[in-house]
Amino acid sequence: MPRISLARLRNLALDILFPPLCLTCGTLMKGHEKHSVSCDACVAAVPLYDGLFCPACLRRIPHGGRLCHPEAKYVLAPAAHYGNGTVQKLVWQFKYHNWLSAGEPIARLMANYLKGLPHDFSGYSIVPVPLHKRREWSRGFNQAYVMGARIAAHLGIPVIAGNLVRAKETAAQADQKDYHAREENIREAFHALDPDAFKGKSVMLVDDVTTSGATLHEAAKVLKQCGAKNVIALVAARAR
Ligand SMILES: [Zn+2]
Ligand SMILES: [Zn+2]
Repeated sequence: MPRISLARLRNLALDILFPPLCLTCGTLMKGHEKHSVSCDACVAAVPLYDGLFCPACLRRIPHGGRLCHPEAKYVLAPAAHYGNGTVQKLVWQFKYHNWLSAGEPIARLMANYLKGLPHDFSGYSIVPVPLHKRREWSRGFNQAYVMGARIAAHLGIPVIAGNLVRAKETAAQADQKDYHAREENIREAFHALDPDAFKGKSVMLVDDVTTSGATLHEAAKVLKQCGAKNVIALVAARAR
């Protein structure tokens, strides 16, 4: 029997044994949707933000306006709110259950959000928030890199990966009890192997969820110390 038929047969059997159901609404997914974990309709129904935010006070920054807290190291660009059920399920499957396929709809949400903004990001470079090497090995991939690479492809901008590194092995931020503990946990966790590579650059830091903002603050601080001109932190969801 030719190889292709075997593969088809196997897929058919898998579809019968494990029907590709949308994680959010439970409908049977067809065609290209089968490579995802949520149907197109559910992803399209997620309410997206339409602006950028001050990470210190979460006030929306008016277009062309200034950051109300100039001491902030970055401008926050969240695609959606973590309170949305679809977003929560996607992030959960991606981050905690290592479902690589959940990365596609998440990146699509982020790219759609960016496209809805009145800003031009063509001069930006994407920098995924790095994981510590050991964490990345145990997970098998860095979720921020997976999202960052897809968004870069959507926008046609470069990715600078491997230069910003996480040298300190930290406990999970989600396990820290408050902002102070998160700040302590992540302090001095990042550094740049080649600081000059960020000099004068406009950087789009990418991560999945921001809760306290302590991780983004530390990463952005390093980028600014290296001479980065602008730092925007793009996340799939903000949890506050
Ligand atoms: Zn659905
Ligand atoms: Zn502010």
